[in-house]
Amino acid sequence: MKYLLNSNNNILNKLKTKNTLLAFDLDGTLSPLVDDPSNAYIPDTTKCLLAKINKFKKYKVAIITGRSIASTKKILGELPLTIIGNHGLESFYAKIEEKEKWKKRCLILSSNLKDIFDQNEFFIENKKYSVSVHFIKKNRSNSTIKKLANTIKPLLVKNEAIILGKNVVNILPSNKSNKGFALKQIMKKYNLHQALFVGDDNTDESIFEIKKKDIIKIKIGMSRNSSATFYLKNQKEINSLLKLLNDVQTQGINFLCMNMD
Ligand SMILES: [Mg+2]
Repeated sequence: MKYLLNSNNNILNKLKTKNTLLAFDLDGTLSPLVDDPSNAYIPDTTKCLLAKINKFKKYKVAIITGRSIASTKKILGELPLTIIGNHGLESFYAKIEEKEKWKKRCLILSSNLKDIFDQNEFFIENKKYSVSVHFIKKNRSNSTIKKLANTIKPLLVKNEAIILGKNVVNILPSNKSNKGFALKQIMKKYNLHQALFVGDDNTDESIFEIKKKDIIKIKIGMSRNSSATFYLKNQKEINSLLKLLNDVQTQGINFLCMNMD
């Protein structure tokens, strides 16, 4: 894994020539992590930079998130970006009849989970097309999250999936969906042969694992267990990256080492 904002790194210069998908995860990537997911926000500087880069014809800017589209829109405000929600289950390519089926299944799942789990300890979130079980007390270890996943597994039926996140276990009513598939679908729809993606969590690994050299894969926070190629030191550095994505279209990048935090 290489540090993206290194002064001798010129990887972003290749975005000058070809049309490119710029895709971002939301929580922990564009928005700082907060204890209560309903308090998440995108800082004004980040919003302003996103609006700027969204104006370039060479860029298609998208959010690929585990949140529902409705909850993402609340955080994004007026920014007209493409949104793929619920780990890809809420998307332009998901079939209406399948979505109806998933919706019904999520109602059953969330009600079953509420019967089993102590709601002083866990928050069960029905996101319409997927369900998340959040730890109310944060900073849980990976083994604790795995244990929770093992408790949930017997409730699932064939073709349902679990994705582990930070302090959360996500339950998907279809195992055919993940963020990696979502990214490929956007590239296909808009005929884009190049992409950049930034994410911070295990749920983003399905994009980091795509074996295509025309995808610049960036993780928030250095990690030995990730398949991403580059990293940013922390969430705040997203602004430095967005600034560079703007500069590469306006003036080219000469100095890559700049910090805005
Ligand atoms: Mg995230």
